[in-house]
Amino acid sequence: MTEAVTRARSAPSAQDPARVRVTEIFLSLQGEAAQVGWPTVFVRLTGCPLRCRWCDTEYSFSGGEPMGVNAVRQAVEAYGVRHVCVTGGEPLAQPGCLPLLQSLCDRGLAVSLETSGALDVGAVDPRVNIVMDLKAPGSGETARNRADNLAHLKPGDQIKFVLAGRDDFDWALAWLGRHVLPAGVELLFSPVHGELEPVVLADWIVEARAPVRFQVQLHKLLWGDVPGR
Ligand code: SF4
Repeated sequence: MTEAVTRARSAPSAQDPARVRVTEIFLSLQGEAAQVGWPTVFVRLTGCPLRCRWCDTEYSFSGGEPMGVNAVRQAVEAYGVRHVCVTGGEPLAQPGCLPLLQSLCDRGLAVSLETSGALDVGAVDPRVNIVMDLKAPGSGETARNRADNLAHLKPGDQIKFVLAGRDDFDWALAWLGRHVLPAGVELLFSPVHGELEPVVLADWIVEARAPVRFQVQLHKLLWGDVPGR
């Protein structure tokens, strides 16, 4: 069901509007958020300015291959599925991410963007479904959350809280109590894989009657902690 990681090298092209550095392009099932369960092509861009304590994609911090935006789009379309997720690393750390998102949307694909919330999402193509992390204290990167990003979210976009324990859970509820979010933005609470038992977080959400959706990472249930899946 899952195909091998594609590591493509491309020569510069006069038709390419921009270039990005790519760690991997692969086909899998979307394991999170509103698009969970759909066959999805993942484009993992290289590099991230954050260092979350529980990061599971450290292999994307460096390396990668430079590719033109058109070459990435062609690699995505070759898989023949409708959903594509641009992720990282932190994809918005590369200027070429914005034209890449636009190019994928122009082809009629259902495009989502996974971003840390630490960089400005204001210039993201409005056709893109944004899945934005809000970093809880257990990540060690809470100071990187950008409050001004909230105003750029639209109905259907999602804010994801990845929680390492009770302190993070209480912090997240307190944060929600202090902020008014744009209408139609969904809230997702996930446990840190291997640190917080999913059933414990589920019980906390029910007990608190928290207005959030619980989620676990479906791809890790299916395939474990394997890069490229
Ligand atoms: S923002 Fe994402 S890729 Fe970057 S360190 Fe945190 S979890 Fe890892």
